[in-house]
Amino acid sequence: MRMINHWIGGLSTAGVSGRTGLVADPAVGRHTGRVALGSAADVRAAVEAARDAFPDWRRSSLAARTRVLFAYRHLLHAHRDELAALITSEHGKAHSDALNEVTRGIEAVEHACAIPQLLKGSFSEGVSASVDACSVRQPLGVASGITPFNFPVMVPLRMFPMAIACGNTFVLKPSERAPSAALRIAELFTEAGLPDGVLNVVHGDAQAVEALLTDPDVRSVSFAGSTPVARHVHARATAAGKRVQALGGAKNHMLVMPDADMDLTADAAVSSAYGSAGQRCLAVSVLLAVGSSADDLVPRIAKRIASLRIGPGSDPTSDMGPLISRDHCDRVAAYVEAGAQAGASVVVDGRDLVIDGTGYFLGPSLLDHVTPDMSVYTDEIFGPVLAVVRVNDYDEALQLINDSPWGNGAVIFTQDGGAARRFQVEADAAMIGVNVSTPVPVSYYSFTGWKDSQFGDSGAEGVNFYTKGKVITTRWPSPADRALDLGFPCSQ
Ligand code: NAD
Repeated sequence: MRMINHWIGGLSTAGVSGRTGLVADPAVGRHTGRVALGSAADVRAAVEAARDAFPDWRRSSLAARTRVLFAYRHLLHAHRDELAALITSEHGKAHSDALNEVTRGIEAVEHACAIPQLLKGSFSEGVSASVDACSVRQPLGVASGITPFNFPVMVPLRMFPMAIACGNTFVLKPSERAPSAALRIAELFTEAGLPDGVLNVVHGDAQAVEALLTDPDVRSVSFAGSTPVARHVHARATAAGKRVQALGGAKNHMLVMPDADMDLTADAAVSSAYGSAGQRCLAVSVLLAVGSSADDLVPRIAKRIASLRIGPGSDPTSDMGPLISRDHCDRVAAYVEAGAQAGASVVVDGRDLVIDGTGYFLGPSLLDHVTPDMSVYTDEIFGPVLAVVRVNDYDEALQLINDSPWGNGAVIFTQDGGAARRFQVEADAAMIGVNVSTPVPVSYYSFTGWKDSQFGDSGAEGVNFYTKGKVITTRWPSPADRALDLGFPCSQ
């Protein structure tokens, strides 16, 4: 079986823990690799490599860093297909979807390529007599990232390129369930000219995470994953004095007004709810149908579901691949059953899907007449299940969104500009879509979250998060201006 090692100081290493975890191909339900599971000693080795690389990297010129970033962008682009195949082999998503993920990750590198512009400070001449002031932003030191299984390339690329562009060094702890692509993008950064130790990858589970959160040399923690772990990571790392951004789970609502273009809306609902088998933090999982819109929309969605081709992500004809594990399939199927038991109508039952082999497949499910007390409404299912809640009007729909403990994405489908504007002002969610079902911001706008979808108020905005501000006040007094003065400095 293939061994997936750590990447520490520019070298592949199995580490010292001796622990490993199994990695599966979800399309065939078979183990294909073993990943090293780092211990505290392995994490320490990665942090030390990053700490030792920091002084030189921090001193490197913006021009030198930008050249490496441009070379990296070029290499990632050249390896898009290989990276997408790696994602599909461990996550299961359709190859075309994985390619889009890689493209969105490359966009984050393109953004980091603008670092000379992004890192510009400010300068004020003459803030007082013969006194100037300027502000600069300086790197933190060793930054770290802990990432989920569902975006093995894009989420890491939204973290380390910007951190490194700002002059930090980095330790990444990718998901142990889909670790290979993260390792490959680290190797490619070295190939692009990044000095050894600037980016390190240490694989592992909660043990490795715990070591990162408490390591005295780690200055910041960027996390994306489920809400309970995000809450824990935020509390633990903040207590250890680190700067933390911890992005959590979601339950994204799509509000459909009766005047919406129903074909556009049905396409969007199906694409968002079932793309990547619903395993996206911005997937729409609740459709709030205002007035009579459900009568029009539900049959259109059901018709589109019937046309979806479900199969291995590596098959170019597949629209939707498998889920990440057998346990997860069972968990998602149990939610469909719980919805049915609670009185929802199961319009399409994904459990009816029959596919040869032992892959972790579950078909798309559509539940109508869902009510806000049902678990299919309240819980993040993270699978191909769309719950339709029928509401009387816009206000009732908005109230549901604003009462939700999550605040990742919320979208509205309407042809009424006034309703859309009200929604973007009033919806309590961080990423809003207007006739856009999966409102993933471009990388120069922050990927963020409100309520239980993000802990830590420093936002995900890269340059500010990965740097600290410094203000420098400068005075070159002439001999006539020199005097002893014990008073508090005042501007003159
Ligand atoms: P997860 O929380 O299980 O794992 C995320 C990371 O945390 C992994 O690296 C994992 O090894 C680590 N981890 C898991 N359990 C831990 C524990 N007890 N202590 C310390 N570390 C632990 O999430 P997942 O299943 O990999 O990913 C899916 C979840 O991530 C969903 O809830 C999804 O909504 C969320 N997500 C959020 C965003 C976002 O930006 N808001 C992006 C992608 C995914």
